[in-house]
Amino acid sequence: MKVMKFGGTSVGSADRMKEVASLVSDGDNNIVVLSAMSGTTNNLVEISNYLYKKNHDGANRIINQLEKKYYEEIDLLYKNSKIKEEATEVVKSRFDFIKSLVKDEFSEVEEKEILAQGELMSTAMVNLYLIEQGKDSVLIPALEFMKTNSDGEPDISYIKENIKKYLDIHKDSKILITQGYICRNVNDEIDNLQRGGSDYTASLIGAAVNADEIQIWTDIDGMHNNDPRYVENTKSIAELSFDEAAELAYFGAKILHPTSVLPAKVANVPVRVLNTMEPKAPGTTISGKDSKNRITAVAAKDGITAIRIHSGRMLMAYGFLRKVFEIFENHKTPIDMITTSEVGVSVTIDKLKHLDEIVDELKTFGSVEVDSDLVIICIVGDLVRENKGYANRIFDALKDIPLRMISYGGSDHNISVLVSSENKKEALRALSAKLF
Ligand code: ADP
Ligand code: ASP
Ligand code: MG
Repeated sequence: MKVMKFGGTSVGSADRMKEVASLVSDGDNNIVVLSAMSGTTNNLVEISNYLYKKNHDGANRIINQLEKKYYEEIDLLYKNSKIKEEATEVVKSRFDFIKSLVKDEFSEVEEKEILAQGELMSTAMVNLYLIEQGKDSVLIPALEFMKTNSDGEPDISYIKENIKKYLDIHKDSKILITQGYICRNVNDEIDNLQRGGSDYTASLIGAAVNADEIQIWTDIDGMHNNDPRYVENTKSIAELSFDEAAELAYFGAKILHPTSVLPAKVANVPVRVLNTMEPKAPGTTISGKDSKNRITAVAAKDGITAIRIHSGRMLMAYGFLRKVFEIFENHKTPIDMITTSEVGVSVTIDKLKHLDEIVDELKTFGSVEVDSDLVIICIVGDLVRENKGYANRIFDALKDIPLRMISYGGSDHNISVLVSSENKKEALRALSAKLF
């Protein structure tokens, strides 16, 4: 059994949906995870933002535009009038629901409900198209088996147990279609796995059912060695280890959701990143096989804030770092990079919700300096200490760029540097020029 995930562009129009239908009808048993049509989730975020501001006109304008687009695609997608009617009804009921939330009381609960509508519509549409084509396809509801726990993390045993029920019920169906991104939280409310979370859904399902392979179908021919949005002539990487892919995803390679590699790694299910526009291209295979003697790729993670704590008390003291880290832990704020010296420690975070409280508490140890608008540039490869010379090449490439922090040795696969956001493109390009 395979898990095949298709992103927003891959289901972005009637034509793209037809292409997806042909790719999933390959005769294998496939669980198909779909994102919302491209642009939809952004529109749903806009609608929610208007509703938070009680701007009903703004919300209605986007709702009507979006609804119109769906009917246009439905018109192009189906030939059979009964199926077309059924699809129209599904989409209409979703938009009626969104319209019912256009009112003054608007909270996070309603926002999450709105954000879920895109995946609910795209999956219904593709499933109906497959049925029109006489395929053996059935919808299985993610909201009945994807769940997060009290920490907001996927509840692995719940997912495993509950998706199995659907596999048993539909054991004779070749194609099981489900929604990426959406889930229920510990209070049983509709929630999601954060933007781009459909990759994470696919990986969680692949691990839960112990799939032979997880395929991430997107709009580019695999993971590239640098960010194609900022650097020209990037190249697709044929093979990546789980660890390399996890570092790249976590440190900003948008092609994969930041935490989507871990479930596949734990279950040892290979992940293939493939291009819907060019289905025969080999793409990238991510597996347990380590890469050797190379710098593999570069990625950049935006929106980073650095906090430096300067304290005389750090000198010769044990337990100091624990107290510092405890403050971040109490505010549920993950730390990305760390560097220390005899008199201070610098850390970076990207979750800023509790920054003010964190800084206030850190001030009990000494002076605290906060720098925002930074970017972590992460260089990934076979960077074990025996591989001499790589650090030299990396820092040679970056010789004209001010570096705020450097981290090396945390794993065998990663050197990270912190730069100002205005130097991001220059840093990425300089690294590509020297390393690849
Ligand atoms: P999907 O909607 O299919 O999930 P995304 O837009 O989330 O697609 O991810 C694909 C995009 O990721 C590509 O179009 C590309 O611009 C961007 N991207 C960023 N870094 C990389 C990288 N290292 N390799 C490939 N694509 C990347
Ligand atoms: N539709 C969601 C988003 O745009 C999830 C995804 O595409 O992975 O973020
Ligand atoms: Mg994505």
